[in-house]
Amino acid sequence: MECGSTIDVGEFEDILEEFDVNKELITLINDPFYTAFRKLQKQSERESDTIPKHSGNFQTSEPSNPEASSQYPSNLSIDTTDYRAKFLNANEHNLRAQKERDLSVKKAARFEKKAKKYDELEVKFKEMKKEKKQLERKIATQVKHSEENSRLRAKIASRQDIEKQLRASRNEHQQKAESLLEENTRLMKQSEEDNIKVVEMKKKLEEAKGKTREVNKEKIEILESRLSTAMRQSTPVKSPSSDTPGSSGEQEESQNPRKKLDELCKMKNRFSSFMKEANGIGEKLQSVSEDDELIDLAKFELIRLEGIVRIYEETLSMNILILQKTRDVSQLLPMHHPCLSPEFMKKYSDLMIGLTTEVPDTDCLICHEYRESHEKTIECETTCHKVYHLKCASEWFKQQQTCPHCRSRMLDDEEYPAL
Ligand SMILES: [Zn+2]
Ligand SMILES: [Zn+2]
Repeated sequence: MECGSTIDVGEFEDILEEFDVNKELITLINDPFYTAFRKLQKQSERESDTIPKHSGNFQTSEPSNPEASSQYPSNLSIDTTDYRAKFLNANEHNLRAQKERDLSVKKAARFEKKAKKYDELEVKFKEMKKEKKQLERKIATQVKHSEENSRLRAKIASRQDIEKQLRASRNEHQQKAESLLEENTRLMKQSEEDNIKVVEMKKKLEEAKGKTREVNKEKIEILESRLSTAMRQSTPVKSPSSDTPGSSGEQEESQNPRKKLDELCKMKNRFSSFMKEANGIGEKLQSVSEDDELIDLAKFELIRLEGIVRIYEETLSMNILILQKTRDVSQLLPMHHPCLSPEFMKKYSDLMIGLTTEVPDTDCLICHEYRESHEKTIECETTCHKVYHLKCASEWFKQQQTCPHCRSRMLDDEEYPAL
């Protein structure tokens, strides 16, 4: 096909197909030149049938345009150079437009994709925001928890400290308790030993008593036999006896049976308080001394004294009986005044002298006041040598005749009324 030549409709359609052009976009209209030409042709045909027909190969057998096809003969050839150029131009435009459209479509697709991505990202962003908030909340709660934890830890630490202290004090108490238990068992043992000793002492004492009783019995038997012979003779036997105590100056007085009897009776009454006083000394010693040996000795002394006192009382009763019957002082059984042993009393005296009191030595131990030089005083001469106001001691002696400090006897009964 040459440029400027004419093509028929079939060829045109082929071209359209070849270039992929939508036929609907093409509108065929009547060519005014052709119409004019046909008019002229018809006119000339009418004038003369010699005019040859157009031999163009362009046929307008367009089915979509029946009007046109009816107007144009199918074998009509037309010069399509301008149309072709226009068409090619249009086609080029079309192609460009298609390309642009494709590009636009692609761009739109990309934009859509981007928009979708953006939407997705926005959704994700929102989710992340939510997550962030949740995380922030979690962090806040964790911070709270950690604060709580540290507080609890501090509490635990302080409790542990307290527990440690308690444990330490408990251990201390346990140790104390253990030592007390040990002390207790030791004391129990000692007390058992003491008891054994006391039992032994009691046994010895009983033996001694038995022996003394036997001796006394013998003596009494002898005396009774003497007494009966004297009664029979009805004259008192006057023989100086070495058993009877008394100095040569007091000989006469002590030989007076009536006086001796009075004296013996007084002595008997006095013994009711004698053991009480001795027990007082024992108690005092136990309360102030920690010397186990001395305490043991005191216990023994008291048991011994009890035995001696009993013997003495028996002898005294016997002597009273003898005097009542014989009126003979020489017949009297020998009597030794019971007392705590001098060895024990020495030890007790030393202990009491060494014992310090809250009251200074310059003060009276009864009223705790200073002893003025003009004030009359009395001293515990036998044992502790404490000094008292005489007026304070006189009041004290109305209750008992012993030293308020060491409890040893300070006065004889006869002396007391003289105060
Ligand atoms: Zn005294
Ligand atoms: Zn006083």
